[in-house]
Amino acid sequence: MNLNQVSLEARHISLSYGATEVLKDVNIRIEPGEFFALLGPSGSGKSTLLRLIAGFNQHQRGELLIDGKDITGTPPHLRNVGMVFQNYALWPHMTVWDNVAFGLVERREAKDVIRRKVGAALELVGLSQYGQRRPNQLSGGQQQRVALARTVVIEPKMLLLDEPLSNLDKNLRVQMREELKNLQRTLGLTTIFVTHDQEEAMTTADRMAVLDLGVLQQVGAASELFDRPVNRFVAGFVGTANLLGGRVTQVRGESVTFDADGIGELLLPCSGERPEPGRTTLAFRPHTVLIRARGGQPDAARIWIDGRVESSEFLGELSRYRVRVGEKFIVANQAHYAGLSLFQPGAEVRLGIEATQLRYLPN
Ligand code: ADP
Repeated sequence: MNLNQVSLEARHISLSYGATEVLKDVNIRIEPGEFFALLGPSGSGKSTLLRLIAGFNQHQRGELLIDGKDITGTPPHLRNVGMVFQNYALWPHMTVWDNVAFGLVERREAKDVIRRKVGAALELVGLSQYGQRRPNQLSGGQQQRVALARTVVIEPKMLLLDEPLSNLDKNLRVQMREELKNLQRTLGLTTIFVTHDQEEAMTTADRMAVLDLGVLQQVGAASELFDRPVNRFVAGFVGTANLLGGRVTQVRGESVTFDADGIGELLLPCSGERPEPGRTTLAFRPHTVLIRARGGQPDAARIWIDGRVESSEFLGELSRYRVRVGEKFIVANQAHYAGLSLFQPGAEVRLGIEATQLRYLPN
């Protein structure tokens, strides 16, 4: 199949619908052969950006380049990008085979070429036996594979996927994201995948861009975004985070004095980052917070704060506690094992935050 890998670059892209600016000065470079996710909440501009790459939307400012060539103004059918839509958009009255052949027939390819390419595409997605079925005789996952086969059969330079898994149930979604990843590896196609599901983005993509309100917040591999988020939004969207607003009042030697809103003064060791004095947000992940009964000997590598359990969720592998500290809440995850007793709401507890895992973020 096609191993023609291309890069994509958006430079200072802005797009408005009337007075509403939906994409604001977006800059991204996607490398040849990369599996890249656009991640963000609903309405953040992900689909608008994807449709812009496909040629269905036009930006007002900036440049869009495929392999260094500006494609602004090139109509969709001349861009040679393949797009898979959320609802698959299969023709219900056509067989699977004819659905997949459609783009090749439109291009007036020779019959034997069509036969060979459609056969190969169906084999690629494991549907060789299903050519004569109609879409409504297939499961959701199979329909999804037909949509993929129909897109890759035209040998696009780039694959664009708009929430391709969101119509599937949870188990199938997990299976399909693995299949998608394998398919992408086999084809080596530069692929851009839109999703609002951080887990989906983290498990499939080589790198991802996080969008909020049309502004690109951060680009990187999943572990980079998780470990080093640049702001509160990314910290809260990629994984979950405790975010405490407050003020660094003193940085002296190896310790930081942080006056947390609604909690009060905390003395933090400088074992991670060194903050500047002033307003900041202290960020840390729930799994880096230990929860213990009051009393006992706290270990010095952690910052210990007393609180009271407000509520808890038992999730099997872990228990998630929401603990009131002063006027705020801190979330602590505790790995669960059979026999470990759970804290009840109202329990007086001590939280131990792992000092090396603290991050200071702009407000
Ligand atoms: P996402 O894919 O992240 O959910 P979209 O790109 O679909 O977000 O939409 C981004 C914003 O643009 C939303 O506020 C949406 O209402 C607006 N929008 C999308 N398409 C149009 C359109 N054709 N006309 C006007 N506004 C639109």
